[in-house]
This record gives sequence, structure tokens and C-alpha cells, in this order.
Amino acid sequence: MVIAVDGPAASGKGTIARGLARHYGLPHLDTGKLYRAVALSLLRWGGDPESEFAALRACDEVASLMDDPELKSEMVGGIASRISAYPAVRAALLDRQRDFAGQASGAVLDGRDIGTVIAPDANAKLFVTAAPEERARRRHAELAAAGLPVHLEDVLIDIRARDERDSERSAAPLVQAPDALLLDTTELGSEAALAEAIRLVETRRTF
Ligand code: C5P
Repeated sequence: MVIAVDGPAASGKGTIARGLARHYGLPHLDTGKLYRAVALSLLRWGGDPESEFAALRACDEVASLMDDPELKSEMVGGIASRISAYPAVRAALLDRQRDFAGQASGAVLDGRDIGTVIAPDANAKLFVTAAPEERARRRHAELAAAGLPVHLEDVLIDIRARDERDSERSAAPLVQAPDALLLDTTELGSEAALAEAIRLVETRRTF
């Protein structure tokens, strides 16, 4: 079984995807990490994020950076959301994601374009979302817990800017696939959100 989980930043899609992978015993790929690894490679090497060519070169380093703790930083996330608009970068990362989705065991992948581009034939597709204010509150709490004090208003501005970039780019924009099931987590805690995700996946299970 292949499960595609898409949605905007801090919607809860990562937690849901990990929980689904555990529940069904499937391997999981957080595809945002690929774009973050490209961003981190650029940052370390001093490449210009405004250059599609430089971003493409940075794709060569992805494999070695997938477990780097700096992938989670806000700075890396901001650059990732810019370089992910380049068609050449998306093309360079395509095979790795398709291979992961195509493994015999099945898989869970989460990102922005899993149900639309990477695994259009996935058995179950979820589009996970939440109100921007709630997503900002969650991200703010995460940053505070990590000892990174920032203003809630700044986090909300950043979330809205990322939503806009992800949704309005021409290459694989963030959009709900026509056959994806919508899961709004605004009012749900993480356990309730996972329970609802499992319930939705079960409605699509044919075996
Ligand atoms: O999900 P995460 O915040 O880690 O993703 C970082 C950035 O990578 C996102 O803002 C988005 O622009 C990009 N991304 C993407 N397609 C994916 C996964 C992530 O464009 N499948």
C-alpha cells in the first residue's frame, strides 16, 4: 500500500505520516528533508539561492545531509521553500522519491506534491491542513521548546509567505489532488488526528 500525505507547513502532516507508517508497518519518507538538504548544502557551500544552476549543483550533496540536525532550522526551511520552486531541482529529486514510493513493501511519503506528481496512483491520499493561526501557534511552541524565542506574529507572517510560495509556484504547486481526502487538524490533537487519518485511509483500502 502506498499512502500520500500532502499539506502546508505545520499542518501535522509529518506526525500523521510517521504515525501511519508505524501503524501499517511501512517505510516513511519526509520529502521536505530532500529540499531542506539542498538548501543546507547551498548554505554551507555559499551558493546563491537565487541561482537555479547553483541549487541544481547542491542536489548532489542531498544523500550525505539527510540526517543533519540543521535541516530543521527556520533558515534552512526558508531557503528550501525558495529553491523548491526551481523545476530543475524538482526534476533532480524526482527519481529518489518515485523509487521510494515504488518499493515492493509499499510506503508512506509526505510533502507537497506526493499525491499529484510523485505517486499519482497511491492507494490512499490525504491532504492535511489547519488554519494558519493554529499552524503558527504550533511552530511557535516548537521553536520556544527548542530555545529559539521568536514572536508569534513573525511566525505567522513566515507561514503565510511559505503557503503563498508553495501554492503559487508553477512547478508542482501545493494543491489538493482531486482524489485526496481532506483532513483539517485545526481542532485535533496529534492522537485524534492520527486516528482520523487511519479511519480515512481505511475507507480507501481495497485489500
Ligand atoms: O515540509 P517542509 O517544511 O520540511 O518542506 C520544506 C520546503 O520544501 C517546503 O516549504 C516546500 O517548499 C518544499 N517541499 C516541496 N515539495 C515537497 C516537500 C517539500 O516543494 N514534496
